[in-house]
Amino acid sequence: MTFDDIRGQERVIAMLRRMIAGGRIPSALLFAGPHNVGKRSTALALAKALNCPEGRGEACGQCPTCRKIAQGVHPDVLLVEPEGQFIRIDQVREVGGSLALNPFEAKKRVVVVAEAERMNPQAANALLKTLEEPPGDTLIVLCATGAAQLLETIVSRCLPIRFAPLSEETVARMLGETGGLEGEALEFAVRFSQGRLRPELRDKAGDWTTIREELLEALERFDPAALPDLSEKFARWSGSEDWRFVLEGLESIFRDLAVLNSDVQAPEPINRDRRAALARLAERFTPRQADGCYRRVLETWEGILLNVNKALALDALWLDFREIVSPRTGARPW
Ligand SMILES: [Zn+2]
Repeated sequence: MTFDDIRGQERVIAMLRRMIAGGRIPSALLFAGPHNVGKRSTALALAKALNCPEGRGEACGQCPTCRKIAQGVHPDVLLVEPEGQFIRIDQVREVGGSLALNPFEAKKRVVVVAEAERMNPQAANALLKTLEEPPGDTLIVLCATGAAQLLETIVSRCLPIRFAPLSEETVARMLGETGGLEGEALEFAVRFSQGRLRPELRDKAGDWTTIREELLEALERFDPAALPDLSEKFARWSGSEDWRFVLEGLESIFRDLAVLNSDVQAPEPINRDRRAALARLAERFTPRQADGCYRRVLETWEGILLNVNKALALDALWLDFREIVSPRTGARPW
């Protein structure tokens, strides 16, 4: 990928091009923005632009230097990313060790730290030492969802560059071109992408539209007095990564319901292609109840991430919906 291949981040690319043209490359950049909007790709494209021997400030994408960077085997372009949950101190130390040596072949060495917010405290402190005494001709690019998740002392040594969410048009174009999605599946994937390019949406859009229909149907039939037996569905969804979309789908439906009938200036419903179903659900769930259900879905996310049994958590969630909706037990302070 070169600058020309990065979609939807024109402002950032223009800024980086001006920086290169003016020869003003700082020693550290912070690429801040949502996941999956092109931060890492842009950082690697920048490494190519700085090092490609063919072009001045632009990468050709074809030469050995560009190809090595693309394949992750360039000795002076280092990518650090979480191994498991965290980026650990030995990963950062290893980079520090390489930077202490002279570059092998690069004009400008580049270290890209992806998901920098997942550095554990020891790793962050080790990186801080490197940032405090940046080796010459080295650029460190930290990619993170925001500055708030990083040590202030790290952030203050970086020039921040903000990445915006992608527009729906950009996501639609990318999913259509590279994901082969079209029609309803494409529309669905674009809505749920929410400005990010999520590969799982490209791969699962078909399955997930089906799950959303199942959720809408189960909620339309929702009767606190006689809960349907959904245990077979819960088991099926929990047996794969689909449970993630089940929660995401419920989250989106209840958020849509909570805002649908409120006066706040709200964004368009995510499930706007199912307005009729939302309207029927809005008669069943008051905005207050929908908000209560929405909050419970968020709590369930956290529970599952903390290793609560998924099928049981979904079952408990449904029972909580009953408690929130049922007039008899509606004593919870929603
Ligand atoms: Zn090149």
